[in-house]
Amino acid sequence: MVSPSKALSVLRETFGHPEFRGAQAEIVEHLAGGGDALVLMPTGGGKSLCYQVPSLLRPGTGIVISPLIALMEDQVAAMTQLGVRAGVLNSTLDAAKARATERDLIEGRLDLLYVAPERLTTPRCLELLGAARLALFAIDEAHCVSQWGHDFRPEYLQLSVLHERFPEVPRIALTATADPVTRREIAQRLGLGDARVFVSSFDRPNITYSIVEKVDARAQLLRFIRAEHAADAGIVYCLSRKKVEETAAWLAAQGITALPYHAGMDAARRSAHQARFQREEGVVVVATIAFGMGIDKPDVRFVAHLDLPKSIEGYYQETGRAGRDQAPADAWMTYGLADVVQLRRLIETSEASEDYKRVSGAKLDALLGLCETAQCRRVRLLQYFGEESAPCGNCDNCLVPPETWDATEAARKALSAIYRTGQRFGAMHLIDVLRGRDNERVRRWHHEELSVFGVGRDLEEGLWRSVFRQLVALGMVEVDHEAYGALKLAEPARRVLKGLDEVQMRRSADTPGPRRTRATRVGAPELDGPGALLLSHLKAWRLEEARAQSVPAYVILNDSTLSQLALRRPEDLAGLAQINGIGAKKLERYGPALLRILGR
Ligand code: ADP
Ligand code: ZN
Repeated sequence: MVSPSKALSVLRETFGHPEFRGAQAEIVEHLAGGGDALVLMPTGGGKSLCYQVPSLLRPGTGIVISPLIALMEDQVAAMTQLGVRAGVLNSTLDAAKARATERDLIEGRLDLLYVAPERLTTPRCLELLGAARLALFAIDEAHCVSQWGHDFRPEYLQLSVLHERFPEVPRIALTATADPVTRREIAQRLGLGDARVFVSSFDRPNITYSIVEKVDARAQLLRFIRAEHAADAGIVYCLSRKKVEETAAWLAAQGITALPYHAGMDAARRSAHQARFQREEGVVVVATIAFGMGIDKPDVRFVAHLDLPKSIEGYYQETGRAGRDQAPADAWMTYGLADVVQLRRLIETSEASEDYKRVSGAKLDALLGLCETAQCRRVRLLQYFGEESAPCGNCDNCLVPPETWDATEAARKALSAIYRTGQRFGAMHLIDVLRGRDNERVRRWHHEELSVFGVGRDLEEGLWRSVFRQLVALGMVEVDHEAYGALKLAEPARRVLKGLDEVQMRRSADTPGPRRTRATRVGAPELDGPGALLLSHLKAWRLEEARAQSVPAYVILNDSTLSQLALRRPEDLAGLAQINGIGAKKLERYGPALLRILGR
C-alpha cells in the first residue's frame, strides 16, 4: 500500500499542484493500492492525474489507451516537461522510433506509455506488454466502448483482453459521459463489474453561461468576442457547413483569426486547421459538431453557439470544451424563434421512428426551457443531470437578473392573432397584423379588417418576436412544418385565451453577455494595469519558448499559472515553487527566466 503522503509529494514535486482536487486523492490511493476504478468526471475535472500519479507511484510503466492519436505527442511533450519519462506507440511512428520505444518499455525506462487501441490489441503488442513490468492500464474516453454512443470505436471492444491476459494489473477506465446506461455498458464490456466507481459533480464553476436573444447573430458574436475575448482561443458552433464557411470568412474579414472546420472539408485542410487551433494562440475555429473529440486544448476561453444544439447533453458537452484549465471561460449562445422552428422541422421530417422523434422533441423542449428560464442557468443544467445546487452567481441570469413581465395580455393578443388569421401564418406576418402594418401581404388577405389588427401597436416589434418565441418554447404554440412554419394553437393556449392562466415572460436582452466586473468572474485574478502588462510579457515569453521547443504554449505553463505569476509576483525561486503549475522540473528550467521577467 502506498501512503497518501507519498502521493501528495509526487503531486507537489512533479506536477506542481498543492492539493488533489475532488476525488483525485481517493482514486489515486485506490489505484496505487492495486484496485480497479471506473471514473466519471466532467471535462477539465482532472482525470489525467488519476492515472499519471499512480503510474509514478507503482513500479513499472503505466499504459494509457486513448483514441486520440493526434494528441498523444502533445501529452508526451507535456509529461517530458515535468520530467516524467513518457513514450508513445501509434501508427504515425516510423519503425525505428517504435523499436526504440519498445526497448525503453522492456528495459524499464518509461513511467508512461501512450498506446492507440488498435495497436495495443495486436498479438505483437500484447507479447511486448507480457515482457514488461506494468504499473497499470488506463483506458481513457472509455465511453468509446458504448455501441449506442456517438464515439463508438470497435477496437475498444477488444480491450477486455487486458483483463484476461493481465489479471493482476490494476485498470482504470475514465470518461466524461455521465449517463447511467453508458456507465453500465463500460463496466460490462471492459470487465470492470467489480471496479470501484467514482462519480464527480458535473459542475464547471469557472464557465460563465449566457444565452442571449438572436437579433443579428454575427454582429452579436463579433461584439462578444471583441468585448470579452480579443485574442483568445475559442470555438464557434453552427449547424450547417455552409454557415460554418460563411461565418469563418466573415470573422476573418473582421480581423479575427478564424478557421472553418466541418466534415465536408478535405482531410488535409481539416487537420491543418485543427493543428493550428491546438498549437497557436488566439485561433477561433468555426465548426459543426464534427469538431469535438480530439480537441484537448485546455485554454479554450469561449465556446459560442450561433445555432441551438439538439439537447442539453449536446450543449453541455460542447460548452465543456471551454476552460479545462479552470481559468474563467464563457459559454455564450444566441438563439431565436427561427432556430426552434428549424430544429423542430428537422425532428419531424426525419425518417426516424415515432419513439425517437418523441424523445428528440422532449430533449429540445428541455433545452428551450434552459434558454427561457429567468433563474440560474447552472441550477437548471445540473438539475438535468440529477444534481441539486444553489444559484451560482456566475451565469447571465445570476449576474444580471432578467426582468420578467406580466405577458398575459400580450400572449392573449398573439394567440388571438394566430386564431383569427386561420393558423396559417408565421410570426413575421402575425407581428405585422398586431402592429397594424398596412402592407401588400396584409391587404391580400384582408387582415386589416380583423379585430386584432393594430391591437399590439403599444409593443415594439422585437418584444413581439420574443413573445412568439416564448409561446413556442412554453408549448402554447406549435409550428406547422407542412405549412411553411405556420403557427398553430396548442392545447395550453386555450386556458390563456379563456383568461384562466397568466403568463410571465422574461424580458430578453441582446447584450453581448453579462456585464460583469473582473471581481465577479470566478477564478479570475484582479490584475491592475502593471499586472496586465506583466501578464502580456509572460505570454510573449511563453510563445517564444513554445515555438523554440515546438510544443503547444500551454505545455510550457498554462494560463492560470501565468495569471497567478502576474498577480503574486514571487520574489525568488522558493516563491515561484508555491505557484500552482510549477513543479521541480519547471522551476529548474524556467525559474530564472520567470524571475527576470518579474523584475526580480
Ligand atoms: P480531463 O482529462 O478530466 O478533462 P485534465 O486531466 O486535462 O482534465 O485536467 C484539466 C486541467 O486541470 C489541467 O490543466 C490540469 O493541470 C488541471 N488539474 C488537474 N488536477 C489538478 C489539481 N489537483 N490541482 C490543480 N490543477 C489540476
Ligand atoms: Zn447562475
